[in-house]
Amino acid sequence: MKTLALIAHDGKKAEMVAFVKDNLELMKKFKLVATGTTGKYVEQAGLEVTRMESGPQGGDAQIAAMIVNGQIDGVIFLRDPLGLHPHEPDIFMLLRIADVHNIPLATNFASAKILIQGLSAT
Ligand code: PGA
Repeated sequence: MKTLALIAHDGKKAEMVAFVKDNLELMKKFKLVATGTTGKYVEQAGLEVTRMESGPQGGDAQIAAMIVNGQIDGVIFLRDPLGLHPHEPDIFMLLRIADVHNIPLATNFASAKILIQGLSAT
């Protein structure tokens, strides 16, 4: 089973819930890991998820470390491009680490759909 990491900034959490609900059957094919609050919403949408710390408390950094350890196959990171975030350095670190390790990472609804379709087919 492949592992998918889910992160959504506050302005994008409703979008993440909509994404999960729209793709429930496909999402069940993955082992899910999420930052704390995003994970809570994903659980409420009906999926099992391992919850890390909240993003500002280091959750993005924990997911980045999992990428380094080879434990993550893909990332859906619904960033809020209009918001300011106290953990901005962690966000860029996670993006960099995904690129270093060539891990597919989607930052919006449209690419997230393509990512889970592609990952579940391989
Ligand atoms: P959260 O973290 O899911 O705990 O809100 C996401 C983030 O803000 O990076």
